Amino acid sequence: MDEHAEDRLTALESVWYEIIEAVNAGRTSGLLCPECNAPDGLQVEERQGRTIVTCPNCKRVVEVAIATA
Ligand SMILES: [Zn+2]
Repeated sequence: MDEHAEDRLTALESVWYEIIEAVNAGRTSGLLCPECNAPDGLQVEERQGRTIVTCPNCKRVVEVAIATA
């Protein structure tokens, strides 16, 4: 087991926080990958009720948990 996995996940969520917030707010275009800043931007798609953000450049995949207040 990797006891640092959770820390890395927190760091990842931190760097993606603005993207996740934007997607949560319904903004899915004009987003840039915070890790590689690929000019092509991010792809946002829904899969089985979940929202998945993918970067075509660095292949990062981030699942956005839609806030249900
Ligand atoms: Zn990227």
